[in-house]
Amino acid sequence: MRVLKLGTTGTDVMEIQSLLKKIGLGPGPIDGIFGPLTQQAVIQFQRKFGLVPDGIIGLNTFRLMESFLRGYDMYTIRPGDTLFGIASRYGVNPDLIRVANPDIDESNLSVGQRIKVPYGLYVVPTNVDYTYDILQRNVAGLKALYPFIETGIAGESVLGRNLYYIRLGQGPNQVFYNGAHHALEWITSPLLMKFAEDFSKAYALGQNLAGYVPGEIYDKSSIYIVPMVNPDGVDLVLKGLSQSNPYNDELRQWNNESMDFSADWQANNKGVDLNHNYNAGWEESKEAEAALGITGPGPTRYSGPYPMSEPETRSMVDFTLSRDFRLVLAYHSQGEVIFWNFQDMATQEAKKIGEALAKASGYTLDEATGIASYAGYKDWFIKEYGRPGYTVEVGRGKNPLPISQFNRIYDDNLPLLLLGSVI
Ligand SMILES: [Zn+2]
Repeated sequence: MRVLKLGTTGTDVMEIQSLLKKIGLGPGPIDGIFGPLTQQAVIQFQRKFGLVPDGIIGLNTFRLMESFLRGYDMYTIRPGDTLFGIASRYGVNPDLIRVANPDIDESNLSVGQRIKVPYGLYVVPTNVDYTYDILQRNVAGLKALYPFIETGIAGESVLGRNLYYIRLGQGPNQVFYNGAHHALEWITSPLLMKFAEDFSKAYALGQNLAGYVPGEIYDKSSIYIVPMVNPDGVDLVLKGLSQSNPYNDELRQWNNESMDFSADWQANNKGVDLNHNYNAGWEESKEAEAALGITGPGPTRYSGPYPMSEPETRSMVDFTLSRDFRLVLAYHSQGEVIFWNFQDMATQEAKKIGEALAKASGYTLDEATGIASYAGYKDWFIKEYGRPGYTVEVGRGKNPLPISQFNRIYDDNLPLLLLGSVI
């Protein structure tokens, strides 16, 4: 970590601001700029927890903040402690402590034993630029709080970042939701992560979720989620080009000599558009890109040297082939529309399901045309399996969609995500 203080800017500042706001210390706008209001909130945080109130986030302050960011404290049992007493001190539902620590014997807590105590705050932030670091922390946080979920790694990116997956449920009906093939469309990552958190929490507490019963879905289905297929691209967009990136010179060249990747970069770290790299109409995709004057790596629409040339797309193909998905949703951002077909290979059943998903979300059901209609993940899935596969385009405006659209996007898509797992 780096030291954060007055004048520092960045996505890490934004994450801290979001945390300070969540625990009720007003840091001012969540804008990634460490201004005087943020400094005041940090001082309040330090006073509250007995740290030196200097308004600077160094190692000690960050360590404590980090436990809030991951969502739980490691608490050491003291004489006289009861589960209920601990829960009320932390302001958290005791059932969430039981869920996070399935092995403790609460009638016989042993002094000195360390247990996880959730803070009772949501783990997944929905008001920040959602970087790979945040994703990583959130995957670990959800697994710690809800040990019944399965987490793992579906592959690696060009730069060796993990392509995390989460599995919700243990049932035989397997479905697969993925997000952020396109770097600018990173808002789809917190969308899927928030869904994973809400589903897990509702399941843990035996509650309903948007009219569904997560306990029933858990037994009937297995919802596999890869929230961020293109972590290298997402971090290029949100954090800029790092000095240590081994493709530094090439990336600048591929980005038309610009150091600003925040407004146009959709590709992975090798300038390949991952959603044009699958083996489904790949030659047509090549012809279409040539017609647009695209001849090599760049910010968008370069299909790569050959189908599935990239580690990210190969990982998604392997992940898919080693399971038995009945339905897939590939999440993108732009247009509030669901694409359901690929070269007339989708079935009438897939169209009917598409209509139901459109109804659940309020989105339009459509067929893609032109360059967007080739070599995408859902195209490959439909071609390979002939089963229902959809590209869901969330939100409206100019990519990257601002995180301020999150709540609306989530409300539209929660019923769709739930329906997709049972239909
Ligand atoms: Zn896209």
